[in-house]
Amino acid sequence: MAKVYLTQCLCKNRHCIAAMTWEESEFTVESAITALKDAVTTGIDNKALDPWCNLCHNTEFSYETDLTPFSSIQETRPFLREAEARALRNKQNFDILRN
Ligand SMILES: [Zn+2]
Repeated sequence: MAKVYLTQCLCKNRHCIAAMTWEESEFTVESAITALKDAVTTGIDNKALDPWCNLCHNTEFSYETDLTPFSSIQETRPFLREAEARALRNKQNFDILRN
């Protein structure tokens, strides 16, 4: 049974900008943060990501890693899809309130 970790890029108000799950055989905490920082930087450079939080417009990002209760990446997928759908609904609600 593998340990599965979640590394997130969070704005100052703890909104998730980007996240990745990984098994202990793939990364260390430090290398996972480096990989996610690289992905966020590339995303911003390619204009796939905004350099600010889409919910609160904060531009100060931090990175953190936690152990998940999952024992495989496969197990994380439904959880991540739901989290992604929830984040999209939140963004749409903020956009409606803003306009
Ligand atoms: Zn935010």
